[in-house]
Amino acid sequence: MSTVVQSHFTCPPCPLCLSASQELIAVYDHLGPGEKDLKVGSYYRELWRCPVCGHLRNLHDHDLDSLYQGGYNAAAFTDGLKRQFERVMSLPREQSDNWKRVDRILDYLGAPGDRTALDIGSGSAVFPAAMRQVGWNISAMDPDTAAVAHAKSAAGVDAFVGDAMTSSFPSRYDLITFNKVLEHIKHPVKALTRAKAALKPGGWLYVELPDGEEALHDGLHRQEFFLEHWHAFSVPSIALLARRAGLRAESIGRTRCPSGKYTLHAFMIERTDYSPNE
Ligand SMILES: [Zn+2]
Repeated sequence: MSTVVQSHFTCPPCPLCLSASQELIAVYDHLGPGEKDLKVGSYYRELWRCPVCGHLRNLHDHDLDSLYQGGYNAAAFTDGLKRQFERVMSLPREQSDNWKRVDRILDYLGAPGDRTALDIGSGSAVFPAAMRQVGWNISAMDPDTAAVAHAKSAAGVDAFVGDAMTSSFPSRYDLITFNKVLEHIKHPVKALTRAKAALKPGGWLYVELPDGEEALHDGLHRQEFFLEHWHAFSVPSIALLARRAGLRAESIGRTRCPSGKYTLHAFMIERTDYSPNE
């Protein structure tokens, strides 16, 4: 990181609170400690913070979109999807971010009954596998064909190729989940708005995001701020994310996961008083 913080970009207004005043807090010109090499060429990014709502954004010119059609899983899981799946599924329940997540959902929403769920951006498929184990009828969606084949074979769930920004949904669901996914999408409000349309009446969205607000206390080199994340959130910014997507965050929590990641999580429902003009 450079010692003099000088911007190469003009930062657009905050996408959540719309404040035009944004502050540059760090410039990075090489991979951080523990950061995956996404092979983007000449590494450069800036971390900007919204002084009003605390939302954080990476600004850069690197093309990350093409990563998720094949290269990302190879870079993210160097030991392969199957080995990553087996490693996570064999963790003791109290040491597993994944089981903590499943337990949160069971605690909040109760027994699944005959309700259906869709996990968007299923990646290594540990979440759909665990949800299936506790009785949810869950499907998986991922832009990567290898991840979809893996979800079917390893997690034993219905899975299909799709991406949150463009694909249509084959069904409607009682629960749609984005687990550490929306921070990889440049326009998370749009992705969430699209997913909302695939909820059954009274359905829930469950969203997990990197907690940039907490992570900042530990410094600027944490994984929550790595290049692969366009966004890191605060409690106000996750509430605003829901609001801008025509949802209401009924419950927002923050946790430090067993893996050490700072995480914000929210259960969201459709707002009945929503006007797209607000
Ligand atoms: Zn803001």
